[in-house]
Amino acid sequence: MKLYNTLTKKVEEFIANDKKLVTMYTCGPTVYYYAHIGNLRTYISEDVLEKGLKYLGYNVKRCMNITDVGHLTGDGDTGEDKLMTAAKKEHKSVLDIAKFYTEAFLKDLERLNIKKPEIISPATENIDFYIKMINKLLKDGYAYESGGNIYFDTSKFSKYYELSGRSKDDLLLAVRDDVEADNNKKNPFDFGLWFTNSKFKDQELKWDSPFGHGYPGWHIECSAIAIRNLGEYLDIHCGGVDNIFPHHTNEIAQSECYLGHKWCNYWVHMEFLNDKSGKMSKSKGDSKDLNSLIEKGYDPIVYRYFCLQSHYRKVLVYSLESLDMATNAYNKLKSKIKNLKNNSSGDIDYSKVKEYQDKFKEAFSNDMNTSLMLTCLYDVIKSDLNNNTKLYLIEDFDKVLSLSLLEDEKISKELENYISEKIALRNEAKKNKDYSLADSIRDELLSKNIVIKDTREGTTFEIRK
Ligand code: AMP
Ligand code: ZN
Repeated sequence: MKLYNTLTKKVEEFIANDKKLVTMYTCGPTVYYYAHIGNLRTYISEDVLEKGLKYLGYNVKRCMNITDVGHLTGDGDTGEDKLMTAAKKEHKSVLDIAKFYTEAFLKDLERLNIKKPEIISPATENIDFYIKMINKLLKDGYAYESGGNIYFDTSKFSKYYELSGRSKDDLLLAVRDDVEADNNKKNPFDFGLWFTNSKFKDQELKWDSPFGHGYPGWHIECSAIAIRNLGEYLDIHCGGVDNIFPHHTNEIAQSECYLGHKWCNYWVHMEFLNDKSGKMSKSKGDSKDLNSLIEKGYDPIVYRYFCLQSHYRKVLVYSLESLDMATNAYNKLKSKIKNLKNNSSGDIDYSKVKEYQDKFKEAFSNDMNTSLMLTCLYDVIKSDLNNNTKLYLIEDFDKVLSLSLLEDEKISKELENYISEKIALRNEAKKNKDYSLADSIRDELLSKNIVIKDTREGTTFEIRK
């Protein structure tokens, strides 16, 4: 298995610490709003990575945090607490906000066929561990108290700039506009481990600690949750590319100073999903969540298919047109498979199975080349293998692709509601003799391969393959 490692800036052979078990940590959502489809692209790639490793024969233990405290609007200890701002806006408590959006996130995972990580741990349930880590960092001289807060001293960690691959001056220039002067800090990139005294006087969630009544910084959460659940030696740590600096950089610094040795061997970062106007972000307020796609009549699995068509290290540009194209391709694929199912024949040819499986493994092992993995699937369908062998391989590949390839057609409740609403609107338009509106509604449905028919019993629809 070869993987691109941000730490070494090279595609490297993956060697697990323990041959039998791969430990994998993936940064989870900050639950102040719905995950946008950019976040979901990252989670889809991480899901393929976990399932692909299992396909190669590894056991994988994966852990993810849920950030329900401490993540500020600026990653460098600036701005406001994201959850607190949302709670104020929605007139709810921070914990209610966290609970609501955690459930929404888990529902998104399910709708995208993303396996729930074995361990999911909310930040607020690990306060004792942050305190333990901060205590040791203070004792060993890696952290200091200033202005009532505890900060990590970045000048004490010589490898601080290794992950980003950028010099201190270069980084300072890059983040100049985002850095708010904090006179408590000794060095500009020092970061808060524990806040007792800050501008967030009305912070809702606070805990007692040896450093005063307060709350943890965002970065310490991931280090603590990873070490607590996966041990001192981590194989893979994932996240979006925006996490490289400062979040993952800070995680490495505090974890390695706490542990006294190297912590994680492979850092895997997923590129962004952009829309035509640029990066999608929750805080920009114009982000698209999965519900908004479903409301427009798109199947979440088509979004997964769309993501798998491109490499995780390439920026993917999203538009409704590209999603329409993915819908067509996915529907065609499903109809081919349906045909195979209706005409199943022949004994499974296991020697051929192995040949195709090897190609599929090779595609995955090539730095998780998902588009090549899809090509392997199409190669099976196009091949002269008998139908039962094809179906066997499709089911097998779908353990990693998770595109519901063998599932019978069932349309989601959301899609059904969408179509019924459109039909009702069209009937209303016809009643009002607004035929151009009626036609445009029919055309809109048609562009999604939904064909409506007016019968004596009323309007019916069919999904065209
Ligand atoms: P957040 O909920 O903001 O902490 O982000 C959750 C995950 O999504 C992190 O791993 C981010 O790096 C990743 N992410 C954020 N924005 C995007 C985007 N536009 N495309 C892909 N991944 C993203
Ligand atoms: Zn994290």
